[in-house]
Amino acid sequence: MLAQPPISNVQSLLFPAFPSLQAMQQMALQFQLGESQWWPQELLETHQFRQLGQLLAHAQQTVPFYRDLFAAGDISLPETIDRSFLETLPVVHRSDLQLDPAQFLSTAPPKEHGPVAFAMTSGSTGRPIRFGRSAATQALWGAFALRDLLWHPRDWSGKLCTIRWFHRGVAEAPDGISHPSWGGITDQLFKSGPSAVLNVNSTLEDQMAWLQREKPDFIVSYASNLQALTAYAARHGLVLPRLRELRTVGETVTPEARRRLSEAWQVEIVDCYSCEESGYLALQCPDHDHYHIQGESVIVEILDDNDRPCPVGVVGRIVLTNLNNFVTPLIRYEIGDYGELAEACPCGRGLPVLKRVHGRTRNRLILPSGENIFPNFGDHGQITALTGVPLYQFQFLQHSLERLEVKLVMERPLDSREQAKVAEVMLRNVGHSFEVVFSFPAEIPRGPNGKFEEFKCLIGS
Ligand SMILES: [Zn+2]
Repeated sequence: MLAQPPISNVQSLLFPAFPSLQAMQQMALQFQLGESQWWPQELLETHQFRQLGQLLAHAQQTVPFYRDLFAAGDISLPETIDRSFLETLPVVHRSDLQLDPAQFLSTAPPKEHGPVAFAMTSGSTGRPIRFGRSAATQALWGAFALRDLLWHPRDWSGKLCTIRWFHRGVAEAPDGISHPSWGGITDQLFKSGPSAVLNVNSTLEDQMAWLQREKPDFIVSYASNLQALTAYAARHGLVLPRLRELRTVGETVTPEARRRLSEAWQVEIVDCYSCEESGYLALQCPDHDHYHIQGESVIVEILDDNDRPCPVGVVGRIVLTNLNNFVTPLIRYEIGDYGELAEACPCGRGLPVLKRVHGRTRNRLILPSGENIFPNFGDHGQITALTGVPLYQFQFLQHSLERLEVKLVMERPLDSREQAKVAEVMLRNVGHSFEVVFSFPAEIPRGPNGKFEEFKCLIGS
C-alpha cells in the first residue's frame, strides 16, 4: 500500500500526482506486479513461458551459443514453449561465461529495450564475468526493488544507513558519505528521508560510533557484519534507540543468525536473495521468513546432480532463467548456490517459495565418507555464551577430511580448556568428528565483494 502519492511532475497538481514519464513506467510495472503476485501458479507459468518463447526465438537468431546449439541438434522451437522443452536445454555454468563471454552475447539486442550497459561481476567465485543489460532490464530490477519496499513498508521519512563493501578510500570512517535522500528507485517516485553509507572495512568501533552519530531508523548490511556489530554493542552497552529494521543483503542468513539478530536489537530482519548477473531472484515474504521467487522476471529450478528437478524440501543447485535480458540471455544458468523450494505460501501469493539458500559448493563440508553437507557449527551467541568471551567474527575452514581450523576474532584468545569446550559443542552441532585447531587473528578479511563466508572447504582449492 502506498502511504503517500508519488512526486508530481506538474507544479500545482500534487494530488493525485502526475509523475514523470520514468516514474509512470515504474508505477505501471508495479500495478502489474501487484496483480500477478496473487495469480495461481498455472497462470503465472502461462505468461512466463510465453515470455520465454520470445527470449528463445531471439537467442536462436542472435546468440552464438544458442544458434549453434539449435543448428547442431537440428532443433526447431515448438509453437508453445513449456517446462518440458526448457528442461531439454543444457545447463550453463558460470565457467562457460567466463571462458567465452562472446558466445552468450546477443549480436543484435532489440533496440526497443533501450540502451545497453555492461557490468562485471566482482569475481568472488573466480574470474569476473562481463554481462550486458538493457535499460528495460534495468527498469525491471528497479521495479523489484520497489516491490520489496512495498512488501516491507517503512516510514519513508526515516534515516537509512548502509554499511557495505566499497573500494578502499570510498565512504571510509569516520564520516562515510551522507545523502539527502535514499537514492535509487525511491528518488524517481517518492520523497524520502536522508541516508548515509559507510565502508564495511571500518572497525567495529568506528562503525558503531558512526551509527550512534547518524541515528538510523533502518540499517542495511551483511548478516555477518551485523552479528559482529550487535556483539560489540552488547559488550560496550551501546544502543541505537531509533532503530526499527535490519536489512540483510549479499550473504546467506541462517535461521539462527536471523533469530539472534532480531533478539539482540529487538527489530525486524528483512532479507533478500539477489545476484549480480540477474538482480533480485527472491524477496522475503511480507508475512514469513521464507522467500518468494520473483517469477515475473525469473524461472528458478532446483536441480540434483543429474540435472533432474528436486522435490520440495530437497536441497539442490539453483539454476535460473532470466526472462527479460535479451543482451546476455541467461537460460538455465547455474548461479553456484544451493537452495530448496517449499510448498505454496499461506500468504496466498502464487509466486513460488524458496525456503532457504544454503550457500555455494565450497560451503559444503566433506565428510570422511565422501558425502557432503551444509554444516551448522553454531553461531556467535552460542560461542560467547559457552566461554563468556565476546566473539566478533568466526570462520571454519576445512583443510582435509580429518582436520578443521576454527578462526575466532575475540576479546582475548581462549585457553585450552575453553577451546576444548567450543570444539566439543561445535562437533556435536555438526554431528561428525574432526580434529580441530584454533587460531585467533585480529580480523578475518572479507571476500572481494565484501561478502563473508562462515565456512569454507579448502580441499582441492
Ligand atoms: Zn508469502
